[in-house]
Amino acid sequence: MEVKVMKNILGENEKIAEENRKLFRDKNIFVVNLMGSPGSGKTTLLEKTLSKLTKKFSVAVIEGDLFTARDAERIERQNVPVVQINTAGGCHLDAAMVRRAAESLNLDEINLLIVENVGNLVCPAEFDVGENIKAVVLSVTEGDDKPLKYPLIFKESAVAILNKVDLLPFTNFNLEQARADLSTIHPQIKIVETSCTQETGLDDWCNFIISQVSS
Ligand code: MG
Ligand code: ZN
Repeated sequence: MEVKVMKNILGENEKIAEENRKLFRDKNIFVVNLMGSPGSGKTTLLEKTLSKLTKKFSVAVIEGDLFTARDAERIERQNVPVVQINTAGGCHLDAAMVRRAAESLNLDEINLLIVENVGNLVCPAEFDVGENIKAVVLSVTEGDDKPLKYPLIFKESAVAILNKVDLLPFTNFNLEQARADLSTIHPQIKIVETSCTQETGLDDWCNFIISQVSS
């Protein structure tokens, strides 16, 4: 019974996601679904790289959050159009939420839309929102076991951002092991290592996005 309900929900979501994808394609907008645990550094990564990305693209951001507008306020300070979605406790964004949020953006003036999903390594990976690519942020403070424990999100993502690498000396995170596990789960995944405080690896992330948009 529960399995059937879940299948129907996912089927309905898939339909709206396809409509979103068509809308974004018609408007020439490349969409990134940015996922990762709470505290992995998704918003900080955006704060540190939006100024680079806006040199190439006209960027807008959709911010998914359980209850607050804190992340949206941080993005607004980067002078980028931002729409907040409050899921009222919902643990992921779905295609209908993204559609409604997109309606309040001027889609004729955007060519890169970044959707910051709700912090969660599980169900955001199951709900297509009509994106071109998924990206997952994993901070080294979360542990190197996460790819094997949550394989779907890494299988679905075109790029894994291993974040907070400046904290590696203070953790037992094994970078080689994480890279090996990621490559086993998803051989084509692009892996970038970033530190938003030391500002390292940020160009790798931006260049990957640039390469994806123009390919
Ligand atoms: Mg955030
Ligand atoms: Zn969820």
